[in-house]
Amino acid sequence: MTNTAITPQPGIMEIALYQGGRSGIAGRSDVLKLSSNENPLGPPPSALAAIAEAAPSAHLYPPTDHAALRGAIGEVHGLDPGRIICGVGSDEVLQFVTQAFAGPGDEIIHTAHGFSLYPVLIRMAGATPVQVPEADRVVDIDAILDAVTERTRVILVTNPGNPTGTMIPVSMLEDLVERVPSHVIVVLDGAYTEYAAGYDGGAALAGSRPNILMTRTFSKIYGLGGLRIGWGYGDRWLIEVMTRIRQPFNLSGVQLAAAEAAVRDRGWVESCAALNADQRARLLGGLRQLGIAADDSHTNFVLARFADAGEAEAANAHLLGDGIIVRQVGGYGFREALRITVGDAGQTGRVIDSLARWRRAA
Ligand SMILES: *Cc1c(COP(=O)(O)O)cnc(C)c1O
Repeated sequence: MTNTAITPQPGIMEIALYQGGRSGIAGRSDVLKLSSNENPLGPPPSALAAIAEAAPSAHLYPPTDHAALRGAIGEVHGLDPGRIICGVGSDEVLQFVTQAFAGPGDEIIHTAHGFSLYPVLIRMAGATPVQVPEADRVVDIDAILDAVTERTRVILVTNPGNPTGTMIPVSMLEDLVERVPSHVIVVLDGAYTEYAAGYDGGAALAGSRPNILMTRTFSKIYGLGGLRIGWGYGDRWLIEVMTRIRQPFNLSGVQLAAAEAAVRDRGWVESCAALNADQRARLLGGLRQLGIAADDSHTNFVLARFADAGEAEAANAHLLGDGIIVRQVGGYGFREALRITVGDAGQTGRVIDSLARWRRAA
């Protein structure tokens, strides 16, 4: 179905229509969804209260400057609010940077197992995606630098990675930004920062260099994926340029209020990180005991690697039979693997038990 008289902008027809992940299983009410790295505890009660409080003002346009939310983020993380931009999920912040700084003829580098949205955002900007390999599922700085050309405008690095769960240390990020030409923006996508003990998401780097942007989200540890809020932090000029293409009312009052309450709720973040660390260790141990390979994870999911694609397919079918939805990651180049979100204690037990039964039956 095409209209030959009307031509879309360059790059748009290269984008495959997004396929949403499975969210239900016909005829089952006890479905356990571990496919989207959502918080097993749901939204924080503090954010739910803020949503209820903000709802009666839904007839009013929201503030356009996001000053209260940027102030809260700055206060909590020790960052300059003037260097923060807020978006509809970090996805929108990633769109700001790709769209504002790259176009037809420009290249944007991303790594082999980065994030499925990156090539889409790059094509949306009309730019050319350049995919570079990783080394044993870990971001490879040298491979990235080898791919840099005069046309490179942006480098997108997910740290910790999705769907790998691995990460590179700050010293290696420093090495990357030290060696990258000054006309290239390095984006550090820190969606899983709060699950990586001791990591600042790249905040210190982004605070000290003119060409680094850190992106963060309220979708993962803050339990607000359905509300769509994220933010970016970087050089004032970068933020100012991106703000020109940000729609003035991109975030609703409800989104802003929920995010502000959530970011101030440090007890929530701490308890979720502790629960995740415990259950992640248990899930990794359980998988390995069953002979299923998995790297140490610095996120709220693990990448379970099976003998081959057929075995991963069989395990997935067995899990679905038990009402458990995990993520097939063939689209990321891992046909032999399944990405499993770390749940609470009961949920993690259910996954391990299901896979143990599958192993015994095999
Ligand atoms: C989940 C995730 C995000 C967050 O996207 P939002 O738009 O903030 O929901 C960003 N990057 C990666 C790699 C992710 O996995």
